[in-house]
Amino acid sequence: MKLLRYGKLGKEKPGVLDAEGRIRDLSAHINDVTGDTISPKSLAKLRKIKIDSLPIVKGRPRIGACVANAQKFIAIGLNYSDHAAESGMKVPPEPIIFTKHVSCICGPDDTITIPPKSKKSDWEVELGVIIGTKAKNIKKADAMKHVAGYCTINDLSEREFQIERSGQWTKGKSYDTFGPIGPWLVTADEVKDPQNLHLWLELNGKRVQDGNTSTMVYGVAYLVAYLSEFFTLLPGDIITTGTPLGVGMGMKPQRFLKPGDKMKIGIDGLGVQDQVVVRDK
Ligand code: ZN
Repeated sequence: MKLLRYGKLGKEKPGVLDAEGRIRDLSAHINDVTGDTISPKSLAKLRKIKIDSLPIVKGRPRIGACVANAQKFIAIGLNYSDHAAESGMKVPPEPIIFTKHVSCICGPDDTITIPPKSKKSDWEVELGVIIGTKAKNIKKADAMKHVAGYCTINDLSEREFQIERSGQWTKGKSYDTFGPIGPWLVTADEVKDPQNLHLWLELNGKRVQDGNTSTMVYGVAYLVAYLSEFFTLLPGDIITTGTPLGVGMGMKPQRFLKPGDKMKIGIDGLGVQDQVVVRDK
């Protein structure tokens, strides 16, 4: 299933995409797409619904983040060796973990606001993993049972705040709208191999990132188990798993986001995001 949330910010309703790509209203069955409604039990119930019997949503509503009320938005740094090299950093001996505060989460096509003083806002297409059941001190072999599904994420980053302003990366990773998530939460049963997904990003129509999750340093199962050693992963938590080569910081000369820039971001089977950049006041 491709679950989604549609409608005005803060008033989103749950939906599901049908085989023809139309949004069907799921609100007779669940009140929202959250940690509770993506549990294995809830997904099994939803799978029994005949999607074609649900009301078609008319028009082209705004799409919200594909899961609501996440408690954690965890990111993995330097998880592709080619991106580590372009960043002038070494692949770490263990995964680098940082937080994107959940207040940065937005819809996949929402306008991206860069901070008033930003000179180095940058893009990162990433595979998002959404947790379906509580995971604490789990083994790698059991990790995939805890994954509800996957989504496309743009891990927007202000490089000056992240790297030059000292302290944690969180500073450069959490501005409002720096976390577009979706359009869909694609349930894990529909993603044959999360370690073989083509992911790409276009800036103003030019492809700048073009990678595959097969070249991740630490794969999804390893990451879920690894994170669960340090804190409990809860249903609805989001993990963004790192970006491949092709960010603005790695270009020669470097190229950062400016107002009017357009980004198109996709992962095969997980949907496409479309964003315009403005500067926040
Ligand atoms: Zn990232």
